[in-house]
Amino acid sequence: MITPPILRFAPSPSGLLHIGNLRTALLNFLFARHEGGQIILRFDDTDRERCEEKFIRTIRDDLAWAGLTADRETRQSGRTDAYDSAFEKLRHAGLVYPCYESAEELERKRRLLLERKRPPIYDRAALRLSESERAALEARGCKPHWRFLLPGKTLQWRDLICGEQRISTASLSDPVLRRADGQYLYMLPSVVDDMDMGISHVIRGADHIANTAVQLCLFAALQGEAPRFAHHSLMLAADGSKLSKRLGGLSLARLREADIEPMALVGLLARLGTAKNPDPASAIEELADEFSLGDLSRAPVRFDPAALNSLNARLLHAMPYSRARPRLEALGVGGGEDFWNIVRRNLSHFGEAQEWWLLITAPIRPVIDEAEDAAMLEAARDFLPPPPWDAHSCKEWTGKISQATGRKGRSLFMPLRLALTGRKHGPELEILLPLMGRERVMARLSGRKA
Ligand code: GLU
Repeated sequence: MITPPILRFAPSPSGLLHIGNLRTALLNFLFARHEGGQIILRFDDTDRERCEEKFIRTIRDDLAWAGLTADRETRQSGRTDAYDSAFEKLRHAGLVYPCYESAEELERKRRLLLERKRPPIYDRAALRLSESERAALEARGCKPHWRFLLPGKTLQWRDLICGEQRISTASLSDPVLRRADGQYLYMLPSVVDDMDMGISHVIRGADHIANTAVQLCLFAALQGEAPRFAHHSLMLAADGSKLSKRLGGLSLARLREADIEPMALVGLLARLGTAKNPDPASAIEELADEFSLGDLSRAPVRFDPAALNSLNARLLHAMPYSRARPRLEALGVGGGEDFWNIVRRNLSHFGEAQEWWLLITAPIRPVIDEAEDAAMLEAARDFLPPPPWDAHSCKEWTGKISQATGRKGRSLFMPLRLALTGRKHGPELEILLPLMGRERVMARLSGRKA
């Protein structure tokens, strides 16, 4: 029997989720759902200084907003005992060693190597300390941090996206597993969790490929079974620059504020780097059905806000009233299905439905240049046809005004728009007009607040 896969999405709650993180989460979810497996939301929160409770909440909320609800949630901060026992196991096996260099000292060594055009790999000086040198350092109050002794070998694995990978540990520094204050860094807890939670597949960004080599050594040292790895290409901003966690503009918080529909974003991210065109999706299940890691290219992908906006608009234009209704009600937008079916075609963001509704139903003060436009607006009142109005009657109406006044284009439409809406920009008049009703239109064309 094939056991269903278990995946995890493992953000550090030290900042807001951005679209790059969401793409990683989504690929994990889609794979898990496609395979009938499970997904764990794991907060990598061992870094007590940088991790904050508020980020745990926003990450959870942002994922739920995107329709990604994990089957289970865990936090590394509650699992220190498990990391301690793995650490002790490594220590007994002689696979971790204490180091006493300060951060400044390490930085100096690093720079020196770089100046000599050598790779900045840790020189294992601490490994050569004698017992008495160590004792002397300890007596001076130096507390050690601990590095993992990488075996000298070449790691090989078949990456589910990148194909055959080979990395020699000679190109890597022995990683620090535990800081002098006892806090574990990312590398060991991640492996211990992946083992304890039976993680079968790890899907994460290509920036983790070197970590994978180190972690494969840790899995072996701890006699654990390593998961399969899939490293997706990195996402760049539209201009080719790097997306960083602190790039506020592409945080989910900002996109939510900008009234982006979650399924527009998810539909875009799910197909980035594949040969398929992005589509607004109606459900995660739909995307999961067609999902295959093999469709993902290894080349970096770019996030194009214009593509997102266009998907957002497409999604709204096709959104059925049943989906829009609770949100319209929450915004105090009336007009029922008829209103929705008319406005949705003109929306780029959902919230605009409310603006339209207010423009039609709430009193506004018409803006009229009496000296310039009084005569034209009089003609507009005279020619206003009896309802019902449609696009055709509206065209006929403006045609008659044009004929009578000689006005065309902007000099015809702008005074009408300003009188009817009080604004220079907005929805098509031919759509607004029937919704406003004759009485309100007459009043506004006469300069009365209505
Ligand atoms: N907390 C790590 C990160 O956000 C997780 C990496 C991993 O998936 O192992 O980069």
